Amino acid sequence: MLNLPVLVLNQNYEPLNLCSKRRAVVLVLNERAQILENGLGMFHSTASNFPIPSVIRLFHLVRRPIPIRRLSRREVFLRDGYTCQYCGLITKNLTLDHVIPRVRGGTHVWDNIVSACSKCNHRKAGRTPKEAGMLLMKETKAPAAHPYAMFFHRPILDEWRKFMPWMAGVPVSSDKAVAAG
Ligand SMILES: [Zn+2]
Repeated sequence: MLNLPVLVLNQNYEPLNLCSKRRAVVLVLNERAQILENGLGMFHSTASNFPIPSVIRLFHLVRRPIPIRRLSRREVFLRDGYTCQYCGLITKNLTLDHVIPRVRGGTHVWDNIVSACSKCNHRKAGRTPKEAGMLLMKETKAPAAHPYAMFFHRPILDEWRKFMPWMAGVPVSSDKAVAAG
């Protein structure tokens, strides 16, 4: 439980990043941040008791650019909604396909990479979509920058959700007992 990360909010309450419990406690003790949620109880030491933070808010505003979405397998699958871009099959069992094959000079960039089921990838092989007679479902491009993209692939604790507007309406996961435990 003490290994669970802490959600760090900017001074304006926007989710900023995650940090360790230790780091969060140091920020609070140094009066750099305040605890907003501490549903995990208290640290007990011989000297004192201290609430275990699960959400903290910084007292100063951190300004930073919206992070660029880095090209990776899971980011491509996420962009494509876990859907094969050739046959429309929705599956977690996807491969990356270079639209213009690398042996034909295709590059490893967002515009040239799509999610493909293994059947379609195998069928297309070293051909272009046109040569293979396989149409792409949509134009491929880099996903829009999103200020909270870093949270997309992480488990979200229940206590964090009210601070995460993009999570509104997303069902609470079944690991609630673990988060609350
Ligand atoms: Zn397919």
